[in-house]
Amino acid sequence: MTEVFDLTEACAQRLDDQDPMASFRHEFVLPITPEGETETYLVGNSLGIPPAQTGAYLQAEFAKWGKMGVRGHEVTDQEPDYPWASYQESLAGPMAELVGAKPEEVTVMNSLTTNLHLLMVSFYQPTAERFKILIEGHAFPSDHFAVESQIRQRGFDPTGALVTVDPRPGEDCLREEDIAAAIEQHGDQLALVLFPGVQYYTGQVFDMASIATQGHAVGAMVGFDLAHAVGNIELELHDWDADFAAWCTYKYLNSGAGATAGCFVHQRHIARTDLPRFEGWWGTNKATRFEMENVFDPIPTVEGWQTSNPPVFAMAPIRSSLEVFTRAGGMGPLREKTEKQIAYLDFLLAQELPTEIQNITPQDLAQRGCQFSLRVMPGHRPGREVFEALEAAGVACDWRYPDVIRIAPVPLYNTFLDIYRFVQILKEMLQ
Ligand SMILES: *Cc1c(COP(=O)(O)O)cnc(C)c1O
Repeated sequence: MTEVFDLTEACAQRLDDQDPMASFRHEFVLPITPEGETETYLVGNSLGIPPAQTGAYLQAEFAKWGKMGVRGHEVTDQEPDYPWASYQESLAGPMAELVGAKPEEVTVMNSLTTNLHLLMVSFYQPTAERFKILIEGHAFPSDHFAVESQIRQRGFDPTGALVTVDPRPGEDCLREEDIAAAIEQHGDQLALVLFPGVQYYTGQVFDMASIATQGHAVGAMVGFDLAHAVGNIELELHDWDADFAAWCTYKYLNSGAGATAGCFVHQRHIARTDLPRFEGWWGTNKATRFEMENVFDPIPTVEGWQTSNPPVFAMAPIRSSLEVFTRAGGMGPLREKTEKQIAYLDFLLAQELPTEIQNITPQDLAQRGCQFSLRVMPGHRPGREVFEALEAAGVACDWRYPDVIRIAPVPLYNTFLDIYRFVQILKEMLQ
């Protein structure tokens, strides 16, 4: 299906009128500018916006706490409340849908970086011969710190044990053949490959199935950070054979700053008793947990990796958000809209700003989600200045040092008119 676009506002309006997902925008609270206008919010890649019903989910828990006190751990009051002690169970099913996993492979716990640490405790088992971790050279700093400190914690030296694959000189994105070559090159010494699903800076989507296959072929474990992937692209963690994965829920999952994070461990590992792990009482057999005997009897699902009782106020917004995703029909229909929004924004940029703006996100649809990483070409206003002017004009986007403006039309709540406005304002800024 090739869509016919033109440069008029009426075209954006028509695309919105024809959009089967359009009604979902009305289920979100849209930020407003200091002048009281609805923002053109294109920064859902950094922090998603609240589903309107999230307040009711939080309020229900607050009311229940007041009414029931400690009994709230075990009993339900009324929908949408859920017993606190097993609150994460209400999230596993719909979350597993979003990442292409089985419910017993997915739980919600801690924060993203904490989950990466806990998963590396189990899945990074360095030996004198096999001790390296491969990451991408431009990994998110928190991931980089987590990996380096894990290496040091095991008595190895990051110089030598931390290996990276980088873009070629003059290029922004990684080539798939270079990732494969790096895995091959470090082969026998590689203990773990830890890659993002979507690169935060460029928006590049990696071929996770191939990376898992290549990593396993040399005998390494393979884990993914899905911070920018979950809720953005279609995922099949189970079938791709990832060993583990973690993700936050406040970006495309719209669950609020610092909301509890997701965690995946592949079915073939969940009941293993030979893996080391950092244990806590929420990972032990639910039937005997409160007998308080000091015998750890791991839950034979990913819940065995849980340490603490669930932070309900950081999880109720996730239930609210997942309910919206479920009603939207999951990632399939959202991806369809994303592809149309990509085509539309590609068209506008090519027509309106062909020499002013470079999009460093790959053109190939298989290698991109809804994020665009835009660079202002030399000879025009400096990118940082353009970013600030966009913000002042009511376009929420973000700036990533040294020279990229990131925007993400999010299919649940961004319109074609948002995209049109963004390009119009950008054009004005650059004239
Ligand atoms: C957003 C993001 C994080 C943030 O980590 P927290 O533990 O949630 O603070 C980490 N890694 C990546 C790749 C991210 O995109």
